[in-house]
Amino acid sequence: MIPGARLVLLGRQGSGKGTQCVRLSRHFVVPHISTGDMLRAAVREGTELGKMAKAIIDAGGLVGDDIMVGLVSERLAEDDARVRGYILDGFPRTVSQAESLDKATASRPLDLAIDLVVPRELVLARLSIRRVCRDCGTNYQATGHETSQWSCDNCGGDVVQRDDDTPDAINRRLDLYESQTEPLIDFYGKTGRLAQVDGVGSPEEVFGRLTEAVEQRR
Ligand code: AMP
Repeated sequence: MIPGARLVLLGRQGSGKGTQCVRLSRHFVVPHISTGDMLRAAVREGTELGKMAKAIIDAGGLVGDDIMVGLVSERLAEDDARVRGYILDGFPRTVSQAESLDKATASRPLDLAIDLVVPRELVLARLSIRRVCRDCGTNYQATGHETSQWSCDNCGGDVVQRDDDTPDAINRRLDLYESQTEPLIDFYGKTGRLAQVDGVGSPEEVFGRLTEAVEQRR
């Protein structure tokens, strides 16, 4: 294992992307930068950004490119990301964000963008049973046998259903993914920075494919 990497993980919501990002960040010893987690933290803290973002997130829409680019550029300028690298989760989501990311990282370019491929029908089923720790963001799958008060195995925080995991918001996010984010596959493909990885299988199998894709690139 060689520590350090500069990665983007693309994939539909519910593709297992978040969980795999956590594992990849431990494996390559790089910070996991999730724009969804950053926005949800701002919502919890009641900052101006959080107040603005909440309605957009709950409706399954996209926060403006300028705001997102500012947020990520600041985070990438911090020591850990500058020195070791990063794994970006949920950013970029539009071609304009990807172009800004290229400008912001011109001196230390991205190693690889990985598209985690999971069919829409499968993610729809997964998202409806997704639960998440309010504090650390660990994902769980509801079985229907949970007690009403569900605590996170990782940190003891409350495990809840995300406000934006309603059927309408899920469908809106998946539509937006197809129209706004899928063009990134072409964007990274044309510049020789794309790997497509089958995201169907056990978390261990998928993780194995992801690390192999990164190692092949080194
Ligand atoms: P996620 O946890 O990545 O599914 O993000 C949750 C929500 O945050 C999304 O549905 C968007 O409303 C918003 N969001 C996160 N990242 C971005 C981004 N890069 N651009 C625009 N909106 C974003």
